[in-house]
Amino acid sequence: MPATSAPPPPALRPYLTARHELLWNEVDAFAAEHAAPRAVRMEAAPGRVERKVADLMAARGWFAVTVPAAFGGLGAGHVAKTVLIHRIACVSAAAAAILQATLIPVGALLHFATTEQKARWLPGVSDGSLLLSIAVTEPTAGGHIGGIETTAKRTGNGWVITGSKVHIGNSHLAGAHLVLARTAEPGVRTSQALTALMVESDRPGLSVAHHRPGLGLHGFSAGRLDLNHVRVPAGNVVGEIGQGLSVAQSSSILYGRPNLAAVSLGIHEAVAATTTSYLKGRPRYRGALSDLPVLRDRVGDMEARLRAARILAYQAVHLLDQGLSCDADLINAKYLGHQWAMTSAQDAMELHGAHALDRDYLLQRLWRDIQHTHPPAGTGEVQRIRLSDAAFDEDHIQWSERLAAEAAWAQPDPSAA
Ligand SMILES: Cc1cc2nc3c(=O)[nH]c(=O)nc-3n(C[C@H](O)[C@H](O)[C@H](O)COP(=O)(O)OP(=O)(O)OC[C@H]3O[C@@H](n4cnc5c(N)ncnc54)[C@H](O)[C@@H]3O)c2cc1C
Repeated sequence: MPATSAPPPPALRPYLTARHELLWNEVDAFAAEHAAPRAVRMEAAPGRVERKVADLMAARGWFAVTVPAAFGGLGAGHVAKTVLIHRIACVSAAAAAILQATLIPVGALLHFATTEQKARWLPGVSDGSLLLSIAVTEPTAGGHIGGIETTAKRTGNGWVITGSKVHIGNSHLAGAHLVLARTAEPGVRTSQALTALMVESDRPGLSVAHHRPGLGLHGFSAGRLDLNHVRVPAGNVVGEIGQGLSVAQSSSILYGRPNLAAVSLGIHEAVAATTTSYLKGRPRYRGALSDLPVLRDRVGDMEARLRAARILAYQAVHLLDQGLSCDADLINAKYLGHQWAMTSAQDAMELHGAHALDRDYLLQRLWRDIQHTHPPAGTGEVQRIRLSDAAFDEDHIQWSERLAAEAAWAQPDPSAA
């Protein structure tokens, strides 16, 4: 039984305004009406990329939840973003993945694009006609940004980009990709060697490989882009030349981490709801499985993890909306949010006995989907490296201080819906 249409729990009240609660109810209604039936269809046709649910979310302006009203967005801030992703993920993690994947490059544009560039791309995101992707990961370098091999070479008043990117969220839906490429000669430090460039999906030389379904998140495309001498004008460089590492790192910490925490949280809610519903309904002795202390003990552990994950996910983005320093909190919310949901999903499988192994049972989808929130926006290893740096007071740049706090648009617009 998916956890649909539940009111916000009291523990989240410190982080939610009345407008957030309205949004919560609106998203739950959307998820029940549109995402739930599509989640079933997406599972039945894993080879298909889901466009309709993306169109429906786009029509509501949700891809522009953090975009200021000046560019047609909702200007509703980071907590509102988490409400959207979390509540949709309770019903369909794939739909939530579609939403979150575009919200990362949107964040990068908000912080690094010029006013002219924002006026060029953001209104399309706001009216739903343009989805974006961020393309960092490569076949050989993987998540090691310093190993990026894609190059962008200057030519006349533009750039020619050559290379390949893999696992790119919304690869098949995006009308433009924010591509990270090497623009410096070998030997230049990574912090000055990379540049972010917008590449419209219809540029000659850009091809998107045929969609191949993964283990889970069916309907979401995270595919391969090949760029074969793709030309873009100088005006497509986002941020300064050589500033690509900052663009990628900051958007991954400020947007990627909390987005993935919200996806994990939604899956976790659905895992817990499915498990309690099953245990209550399965007869044993004179009662049900839910009466057995040994099973209740495991459910108690699950509930403890879920309650803690909820607070981490919302507290971190609340701090971001307040303009407070919170990089380690965002990282921790992603890290533990995934870990705890994984543990609960595995427990849930065991608590269902053989029933969980029956084909088409919901829990299988949840178990497969949660595997997908480990790699993006930093694997567990990456999060632990950053968290140990924080423990030793060796923090890197505090992107939450440097970017979010100084930008007036990062504060939620009190009049936003
Ligand atoms: C659902 C999903 C969506 C994604 N969306 C996007 C997207 O929109 N854009 C994008 O660019 N990418 C995206 N990715 C890719 C994701 O960012 C990468 O999978 C991730 O960075 C890890 O890269 P990799 O899978 O190649 O693993 P590798 O980098 O090859 O790492 C393999 C293992 O080694 C560990 N490891 C590697 N280096 C170190 C180190 N120095 N120290 C300790 N451990 C290390 C890793 O933690 C991991 O466990 C997505 C992935 C998924 C699953």
